[in-house]
Amino acid sequence: MILQRKLSSYNIKKYILDIFFPNRCPFCGRVIKWNEHCCEKCLGEIPFISKDICKRCGKEDCVCSDKDNKLYYDGCVSIVYYSGIMKTGILNFKLDKALNLVDVFEDYIFKRLSKAVDISNIDIVTAVPMNKAAKHKRGYNQSDIIAEKVSKIIQKPLKSCVLMKSKSNITQHELNRYERAQAVKGLFSADARSIDDVSGRVILLCDDIITTGSTLNECARILKQNGARSVYCFTIAYTPLENGRA
Ligand SMILES: [Zn+2]
Ligand SMILES: [Zn+2]
Repeated sequence: MILQRKLSSYNIKKYILDIFFPNRCPFCGRVIKWNEHCCEKCLGEIPFISKDICKRCGKEDCVCSDKDNKLYYDGCVSIVYYSGIMKTGILNFKLDKALNLVDVFEDYIFKRLSKAVDISNIDIVTAVPMNKAAKHKRGYNQSDIIAEKVSKIIQKPLKSCVLMKSKSNITQHELNRYERAQAVKGLFSADARSIDDVSGRVILLCDDIITTGSTLNECARILKQNGARSVYCFTIAYTPLENGRA
């Protein structure tokens, strides 16, 4: 009953908000109905991952046995490829405040996660952080928005400030996996006030995109260093690598 009441008051709020701020497709910006997540045309173009992806490293070309690049996370799940309209969608999500992009995937989050991870074991949900200046400039951290949604869907507590990012990274686009792994070293640390949330816990770490996995791996390394029992990663999108480069 309580859940039902919450849902209906949430819907009423959405409906009324829609009169003043029409709901828009997060991909193309077309006005859509208040209870829709994106337009029908864009829905048909979403590049959902249909191939098998390694449940551990989260890659099509498994890198689990790569001795030069130790894997600190225990599993990784993504929903779509970072290609086609997803590039526009993620760009709008980051720069144009199209925060409803995450809603498009709400039916897939539980489905995909539960295939790869025992959700009942997860203790907390957290996000890959942005550094303070970048977050201030954008006004929000897109990974926090994803973590918040995931936390609601799997009904596990959200702890958004477990990790901190000290500075911004150099542009990573031109770097290969090994160069990226070096570039993210030392960028992240655990907030001393959150150690109790990390130590002995199973953590679900959320981000928007996995490319080489270096950022997620470095965050997982810090979480493990601070006593995390396991770290699983969730990203909306996955970038397939071409010739070792993203
Ligand atoms: Zn659209
Ligand atoms: Zn693998």
